[in-house]
Amino acid sequence: MTTIFRAARVLTPEPLDDGWVRVEGERIVEVGSGPLPSGPTGAVPGSAGVAAGSRAGSGAGTAEVVDLGDRILVPGFVDMHAHGGGGAAYTDGADAARTALATHLAHGTTSAMASLVTDTLEVLERQVRALAPLVSDRELMGIHLEGPWLSELHCGAHDPDLLTDPLRRDLDRLLAAGEGTIRMVTLAVERLGGQAAVRHLVESGVVVAPGHSHATYADANLAIDAGARVATHLFNAERPIHHREPGLIVALLERAEVIVEVIADGVHLHPAIVGDIARLKPGRFVLVTDAMAAAGSDDGDYELGPLKVEVRDSVARLAGGGAIAGSTLTLDRAVRFCVQHAGIDLVDAVRAATATPASVFGRDDIGRIAPGAYADLVVLGPDLGVEAVHRCGQQVR
Ligand SMILES: [Zn+2]
Repeated sequence: MTTIFRAARVLTPEPLDDGWVRVEGERIVEVGSGPLPSGPTGAVPGSAGVAAGSRAGSGAGTAEVVDLGDRILVPGFVDMHAHGGGGAAYTDGADAARTALATHLAHGTTSAMASLVTDTLEVLERQVRALAPLVSDRELMGIHLEGPWLSELHCGAHDPDLLTDPLRRDLDRLLAAGEGTIRMVTLAVERLGGQAAVRHLVESGVVVAPGHSHATYADANLAIDAGARVATHLFNAERPIHHREPGLIVALLERAEVIVEVIADGVHLHPAIVGDIARLKPGRFVLVTDAMAAAGSDDGDYELGPLKVEVRDSVARLAGGGAIAGSTLTLDRAVRFCVQHAGIDLVDAVRAATATPASVFGRDDIGRIAPGAYADLVVLGPDLGVEAVHRCGQQVR
């Protein structure tokens, strides 16, 4: 089955005017602009006149052409930091994970990491074992441990009583439970044994992300020297910048090898900060949701790991009006926020939600519209709303 999508604008994420994308099965096989391709499975003659969104041709030796008119075709979004959605949390096992994934998929996220909040090692081990099969089946791209090796000073929505130093035997216990599916760990690198933990995780093939941390500028640079490559939700739940102690934020912004996560929901960061990060780190910032269960669902009372969370007016806080406890964001909204409120070009915003997060995990088969990549495609309308979603060549919305 061959399908050719054509659209006034294709973002691969590089912009392609009057572009087309040829899909066979679950993969993209050819990308171009101008006249449609021909050949053994070439386009239907005369299909250029097909109305927006309509389909034509399906006979042997022809391709189905989907003309998207003036809409924008972008890669499926890649969310490397989320805790749930649709009323479900990744801490609650495989079925809950599928509910969360389906919720974000409807908003264009075709690849997602499952982030687990701080809990006891026993509970985390059980949660990791429950999610690992979904990684093997490619429903999830990996598991992200956000804790328990975080700073009590910046615990955010993590239970401070469960935070602990990153002992090698505890790291190994959880890594063993994941059997290679734990792909990222957020770490307060200043904790006792923190720098050794960075080295050990990097040697184990795990992405290390300083965050929920009180690290100094010097501590953070040492961690980056040792291989730390991602900043967990930059600015949120960490030591603020000070002119005599720049702290980890300045180090993470300065070092070119570090990719920084940004929660662009209008709550976690001022839009000016979002725009500033984009200008300081071109191609090196990533839009993440840090979404909790209420994303794509209603206001109400929820749980984030062992803690109670209240969601009011779509803002999640620890019960009793405490710290911000994740977001109710979806990545399509983050992209729109960047363009409409933070002065970021659409191409850069889309890259930050697709190719850049994919690159963190060495994946060139997702987050791009390119031959060989999975046919994960999102159709955006002129207002940047999601009109259609395809995952692995299947239309899911
Ligand atoms: Zn988080």
